Amino acid sequence: LEEISVKPKVVVSKCLEFESCRYNGVTIPDAFVQKLNPFVHFIPVCPEVEIGLGVPRDPVRIVEKKDKRYLHQPATGKDLTADMEHFSEQFLNELEPVDGFLLKNRSPSCGIHDTKIYHGFEKSAKSIRGKGFFGGKIIDLFEGYPIEDEGRLKNYILREQFLTTLYAFARLRRAEESEKINSLIEYHSSNKLLFMAHNQTAMRAMGQIVASYNKHNLAEVYNNYRKQLMRMFSTAPKANSMVNALQHMFGGFSEKVTSQERQYFLNTIEEYRDERVPVSVPIHLIRGWAVRFGIDYLLKQTILRPYPLELLEVSDSGKGRV
Ligand code: SF4
Repeated sequence: LEEISVKPKVVVSKCLEFESCRYNGVTIPDAFVQKLNPFVHFIPVCPEVEIGLGVPRDPVRIVEKKDKRYLHQPATGKDLTADMEHFSEQFLNELEPVDGFLLKNRSPSCGIHDTKIYHGFEKSAKSIRGKGFFGGKIIDLFEGYPIEDEGRLKNYILREQFLTTLYAFARLRRAEESEKINSLIEYHSSNKLLFMAHNQTAMRAMGQIVASYNKHNLAEVYNNYRKQLMRMFSTAPKANSMVNALQHMFGGFSEKVTSQERQYFLNTIEEYRDERVPVSVPIHLIRGWAVRFGIDYLLKQTILRPYPLELLEVSDSGKGRV
């Protein structure tokens, strides 16, 4: 099995574990960020501190008025919209190549889906849920990249999807840094089954992009390839395609296992289909058989080890795919 040496680069909300930069001066403990820390290169950022708001500070909120959204500080009446938009654009445009984003939920700056958007400046205004200013900009610019908040990552299915995508982008970045086409050919072939489980149309397009290489277009090939990877991961894999990939792998040695083992595997696939276990459970079984029967082709596939096993944890908030 491949040793995973690549360290993904992840932009993270600074108040998660890194600094006491919340409006009320606290740091938010986060077990997943702690666990991830030795495996990734975190790039912590606090957009509110970056635009000059101190700690502690009066809280800010998003207000929508006549279809325009404002970042408003009720206690001072300040409109911070332009400052936050300017910071977000500049920070993200100047950002080194990264592989993913892990953000604080519900924040008017960092939130990605569940921030309160108030319909009016008055205190009692009603609200809906939406994206924060910084988090929303990330979603616009990095579609397909792993972008999650700490709340959603308490769900193990989303956490697995996040990690799988994160390492897929990180491995591609490493291949690109080598400035060799061979690294991309290897990348494509070792990800074949993972891609097959995600999106076969994008996978075929990626194969054609690799084949379009000539001596002069390496940068363009990598660029086009990354765009397809973004497309591939912009939707979660369908359970059926994942089941097909699992069955395809199992087909390589199904005659060599006992009928009880076969039945156990088929039951596990059904449990995965019903969302009773994450995909890492049937994958774990296949990995064991691939090692036992020495199936080199499978052992090189990232689907059997999409991210370091130390990060695998099946504990869950029990909240489903919220
Ligand atoms: S949520 Fe974002 S803006 Fe708010 S304190 Fe955390 S890092 Fe700063």
